[in-house]
Amino acid sequence: MNINELKSALQEGGVVGAGGAGFPTYAKLSDQAETVIMNCAECEPLMKVDRQLVTEYVKEILGGMNMLVETLGAGEGILAVKKSYTAAIDAVNSCISEYPRLRLHILPDIYPAGDEVVTIYECTGKVVPQGKIPITVGCVVVNVETVLNLYRKVTDGTNVIHKFLTVAGLVNRPVTLEVPVGVTVRSLLEMAGGTSTDEYVLLMGGPMTGRICTESDVVTKTTKAVLVLPPDCPPILHRRSSTRHDIRNAMSVCSQCSMCTSLCPRNLLGGAIKPHEFMRALANGLTSSDVTNTYLNSFFCVSCGLCEMYSCHQGLSPRKLLDEYKAGLRAAGVQPPEREMKPVDLHREDRKVPEHRLVQRLGLAGFDVPAPLQSGKDASEVTLLLRQSIGAPCVPCVKAGDVVSAGQIVGRPPEGALGVCLHGSIDGTVAEVTDQAIIIRR
Ligand code: SF4
Ligand code: SF4
Repeated sequence: MNINELKSALQEGGVVGAGGAGFPTYAKLSDQAETVIMNCAECEPLMKVDRQLVTEYVKEILGGMNMLVETLGAGEGILAVKKSYTAAIDAVNSCISEYPRLRLHILPDIYPAGDEVVTIYECTGKVVPQGKIPITVGCVVVNVETVLNLYRKVTDGTNVIHKFLTVAGLVNRPVTLEVPVGVTVRSLLEMAGGTSTDEYVLLMGGPMTGRICTESDVVTKTTKAVLVLPPDCPPILHRRSSTRHDIRNAMSVCSQCSMCTSLCPRNLLGGAIKPHEFMRALANGLTSSDVTNTYLNSFFCVSCGLCEMYSCHQGLSPRKLLDEYKAGLRAAGVQPPEREMKPVDLHREDRKVPEHRLVQRLGLAGFDVPAPLQSGKDASEVTLLLRQSIGAPCVPCVKAGDVVSAGQIVGRPPEGALGVCLHGSIDGTVAEVTDQAIIIRR
């Protein structure tokens, strides 16, 4: 299979990044790649998907990585696994010798080890310039589940209709499930034995970057976790405060200690983002030309949340305010500026944030428990959102009343647009097609 054939297969198979924003995988592939890195770091605390997939499907995953390395003509493939994922490391070690172009790299147990710019630096020592993509330094980074999906598509034609995710927190049975894309959060909670209390808030995604959701929200190809959290834990309190309240707090108590900048993973790698300068400018209402760059540098924040969930001793919300500001700049059509990188900070090693300390700071240590992998493939209804990833939403190619089977294409990206095909995730009948979704009932 050559690179163009692989790209077509992945686009038709609906393969997107399963561990982050969901960039269509075919669009990442390049014959300029020198290194392919498989990221087995879990995006965030409490998620248990990546390590279990590597342990359970190690042959498929190593086979998929080897396929990717050979097809791209890359020099090597790196399996980047966190140090504490000992079962996954043992699984890789048991068969990696069959693949001379693959090597194992042990990542430290830090947050955010899964930020691809951090992963690339940890694995290769290369720094991706801010505002650029990994291929600029010859790297392609893929998630574990993405590699498994690629392997399944290439070897037996399986399209992406299932999703692996962890359900944890205030549930009776924390679990990692393989479910059809499009099932509701309500059904996930049932599969986790129900909630253990009536007082909770649902988060779709991890505690650092997830969003508050309801039981009616549905699983997409990028859903990695659903967490049931206490209403008074820091991740929920930060999300629930208003921007007005956040700005007032910044005006009142930001001490300009600069800890948020000192621990910012992108600043430590030489990026221009300095959250303490942004907070100073915002809190003091500064608008002179001296602070233009401070505001524009918000483009280089990747919203990891470390500054507000860990670094700030005053409980302020630099990330949320940066997010609002970035959104405003984008809405106004402002483009990210060109910035030179500084050298990597000499103190970076000492300023990495250990994940176990982050989990304690989040008040979630009690929820960091095993969540065993099991199948949850039974579903009587699925709602397939037409926009599941970065790129254009799919255009439905079915109508109400059509009988469809699992794996059948039900939506395609517009001609020439960035995007992948969408497939029915259960056998059934199309109940409804709306502007947003296709609903299928068994
Ligand atoms: S860590 Fe908090 S108090 Fe210190 S500069 Fe940053 S926002 Fe201000
Ligand atoms: S969220 Fe905060 S710590 Fe993370 S990249 Fe942005 S400024 Fe840096």
